[in-house]
Amino acid sequence: MNDAWACANCRSLNERRASRCYRCRTPRDVGSVAPAAMPTVGPTSAPAPKGRYRSSAFRAVITSSLIVAFCIIAIVSTAASTNVVPAALQSDASAKAALPMVLTMTYIYWGIAVAGLVTFAAWISRVVDNVPVLTGYYPRATPRMALLQSLVPILNFFWIPSILREVLHAQDPDRNGNAVIAAALIPIVAAIFIAFWGQRILLAFRLGSGDVKDTLNAGLVLQQVVVGIGIIGFVMLVAVIARVERTASARARGLAAGSA
Ligand SMILES: [Zn+2]
Repeated sequence: MNDAWACANCRSLNERRASRCYRCRTPRDVGSVAPAAMPTVGPTSAPAPKGRYRSSAFRAVITSSLIVAFCIIAIVSTAASTNVVPAALQSDASAKAALPMVLTMTYIYWGIAVAGLVTFAAWISRVVDNVPVLTGYYPRATPRMALLQSLVPILNFFWIPSILREVLHAQDPDRNGNAVIAAALIPIVAAIFIAFWGQRILLAFRLGSGDVKDTLNAGLVLQQVVVGIGIIGFVMLVAVIARVERTASARARGLAAGSA
């Protein structure tokens, strides 16, 4: 226990191997004090976070652009399918010709979705990295954890909202970001859920009946529903990103004014 370290930020005693304070998550190299050096009474001066503020605005713009592009392509391809499918239904031959187009659009969706997720992960990692410098608060997730957690399918729907809630609360304690985060999360999860189960039902239906026309028609309705619900969530997600950026740059301006 000789190597235990005390946290200068919250006075907690931490185990030798702890890389950050168990209680306030101040990194050891920032807040470590030998226990004997801690004053027994009176406050200790809170240690200044290491590192400097690096704007996340560029990553926010790229991420938001990919999200908007994803939504536009979703709308355009849904409109295109809506026009093409009725004609394709005139004959089995043209119905079979329409199917590859629908599948190609699915690949484009996935391509942009993956690119958007990667830039989102890079953005949220930078955002988390800035929180201690901007607010003196250490989020539960480190920048690397935020990056990796964003990329894990399904679990990221649990991790990302809690990271965003923590960031928004730290940067703007007066305003509750829960509502806007829920408004983004719920429609996106609902759209993915409907798309996943809808496609499985369609495939089962097609295997059962072998009717290409009915399958295409049902697929079209499914696409319209999924796109309609999903876009609500993605528009709100862009709003969440914008609010994180707004509150971060307000804090950064405050810091610049304070140090000037
Ligand atoms: Zn601490």
